[in-house]
Amino acid sequence: MAREVYGIDAVLTPLVGERDDNFLLRSADGTSWVLKILDLAADPMTVDCQVAVLRHLAEQDPSLPVPRLRATRLGAPVGMLRFAGARHSTLLIEYLPGRPLSASTSNPRLLRSFGFTIGRLDRALQGFFHAKLAQSLVWDVRRLPELAAFVGDLEHDRVGRRVKAVVGAFGERLPALRGLPSQAIHGDCHASNVLVDEAAQGIVGIIDFGDMIHAPRVLEPAVAMSELLTEGVAAHEDLTALLQGYTEAQPLQTAEVEFLYDLITARHAVTLLVHAWRSRNDLEGARALRDAAAHADSSLELLTTLGRGKLTAAWHEAAGTLPPAARLRRRRARLLGAGAELFYDEPLHIVRGEDVWLIDAAGRRFLDVYNNVAHVGHSHPTVTAAIQRQCATLATHSRYLHEGILDYAEALTARLPSHLDTCIFVNSGSEANDVAWRIAQSVTGNQGALIMENAYHGITHAVAALTPVAGQRSQPHVATLKAPPRGIGALDMVSQAQLTYAAEDAERALAELRERAHAPAALYLDTALTSNGIFDPPPAWLAPITTRARDAGALIVADEVQYGLGRSGSHFWGFERRGLEPDIVTLGKPIGNGFPLGVVISSRAVVEEFQARYGFFSTFGGNAVAAAAALAVLQVLQCERLQQNAQETGAYLRAGLESLAARHAVLGEVRGAGLLLGLELKAEAKRIVNILCARHGILTGLEGPQGNVLKLRPPLSFRRMHADLLIAAIDATLSALRGV
Ligand code: PMP
Repeated sequence: MAREVYGIDAVLTPLVGERDDNFLLRSADGTSWVLKILDLAADPMTVDCQVAVLRHLAEQDPSLPVPRLRATRLGAPVGMLRFAGARHSTLLIEYLPGRPLSASTSNPRLLRSFGFTIGRLDRALQGFFHAKLAQSLVWDVRRLPELAAFVGDLEHDRVGRRVKAVVGAFGERLPALRGLPSQAIHGDCHASNVLVDEAAQGIVGIIDFGDMIHAPRVLEPAVAMSELLTEGVAAHEDLTALLQGYTEAQPLQTAEVEFLYDLITARHAVTLLVHAWRSRNDLEGARALRDAAAHADSSLELLTTLGRGKLTAAWHEAAGTLPPAARLRRRRARLLGAGAELFYDEPLHIVRGEDVWLIDAAGRRFLDVYNNVAHVGHSHPTVTAAIQRQCATLATHSRYLHEGILDYAEALTARLPSHLDTCIFVNSGSEANDVAWRIAQSVTGNQGALIMENAYHGITHAVAALTPVAGQRSQPHVATLKAPPRGIGALDMVSQAQLTYAAEDAERALAELRERAHAPAALYLDTALTSNGIFDPPPAWLAPITTRARDAGALIVADEVQYGLGRSGSHFWGFERRGLEPDIVTLGKPIGNGFPLGVVISSRAVVEEFQARYGFFSTFGGNAVAAAAALAVLQVLQCERLQQNAQETGAYLRAGLESLAARHAVLGEVRGAGLLLGLELKAEAKRIVNILCARHGILTGLEGPQGNVLKLRPPLSFRRMHADLLIAAIDATLSALRGV
């Protein structure tokens, strides 16, 4: 027959086959073939589909290890054989060497080759279509909900409950599954349909194209992964190798990889349900599935214990489909340390800033109610142009004569009391406070410091000692003053009792220093009292404190890193609002609108004495570009009347917050002035901040010793319409919280 139909002289050996009669043909020319004499009941559509797909694959990827089809002597793909009065169709298919993966020991290299081969197969299958691909197969996981009827047939309730959970979860995901990229797939790439080479290093064949369907592409690797587990060929850790191989040939989308867990557990459930059904209706069939069902049971238990999150993360890693934000987070933790701080439960990937808006990688706009560095608005064109212009001309240090640094120092000191006339340039608020500390010690000959409890002044070694809020242990040379009391500033009135309390507290702190053999070199004050909870005490509150500090020899350092440059609305400097006459002023954050810069300003005598004693030079401090940026900031502040805006918009926002506080029980005090406002949250503070960000696109933060004061500190170009957005978002967030 082989000679008659196919023109081959061959020796025939019978092979096993489920439905067809199969023979191995070893031809005289050394090639081997499988002759399939198809079952009389074979569906002609199925035969036609197999022929079509093998032809398609031979055309699209000729070296893919799938069997070639040999035509009859007359060139027909399907042969015809009369036998015992019946007409049988025949196929002659290339015999592929190798043994089934199911009979080999798997290893990661082999699994990667497996994945790569089926990835190639799916790539080659794109564009293939045949009506038969719509066939309905019980093994198609998309039909799992229909099989759920047989949950009762499962032997143990424990298994039943687990399978039910899988069916339920899968049912919910089905609509999304149908939306994934779909195509013709092999659909049954289990370890018995995959042939490996002698050394078990690579895949040399994929066979059996009888279960092909049109389905979500990701079902292909999912079936392979699931079957490796249920056939006991590989452990779950090894599946990543298959996925890696698959995606090397055929990339997957993030959404597809998100589905792997559902598809694999669903396929396990199908195995268990088909086995349960067969146990009642088809004992021989059940026996063939016994081991697979046992594996499916234990594997399902393991997968549910490990959890979708952990497994999916590992699969994303293998497939190279980690969502971009997750990828950045991992990379960041690897390069910057896991402790590098990030805002919000779902950190933002911000790529652009524009006035009061920050824009993320997906193009979503966030209203920035948090950043005081972008004082005149993010990427302000005037400041940007000044930086660009100067950078393109000259960017060097301050040991040459240059007008830039002088123009800026002139503009800055013109806005300060006349005794604050000389500037030292550094690069950050911390550095400015550090230099101020050295100056204060040098001028006074004292080594002690008075600071507010919970103060924040920066990160250098000396300044960290003045920063109890950062968890620094208290040091003998530092004494802390009590923060202003709740409710202070609301009526701009201070009671006699409060004044007495402030005076006694200052005396107590000074006595503590004395006991430790220290006199104060400086009293440091963040004039915004930000880290204390954004209190806004009137001048009367501070007067008894500063008087006593000065009497004890301290210089007054006004840390204007938060409050300087008009943020309070009422005054250009925070110390003015507090009624202070500082000996030293330190500046940072907002003055360069994002360009790093810090300044220490004091009297000429003080600065010159410090210079004479120690000399001072900071490489980047006051460089030409920083000076250009800072000068532009002052110009924009003036041109755009931003201090006035801070006052007007701040008052408007404050009134809005007060009306919210009257309606929402969770809100406490409204604090602060201008565009530095605090809103006390009595509960759920972190949740509220995260909801404002994730759901309303509004960026805020938390402040205060208890971390329960909503910190509202936007660029000074924040307008009424922005305040309206913020108030509406807080209102909606709190109403939704109350509804829960
Ligand atoms: N002083 C105060 C009041 C601050 O808020 C900060 C920064 N948060 C600093 C100093 C330190 O500034 P920098 O981070 O620029 O060193």
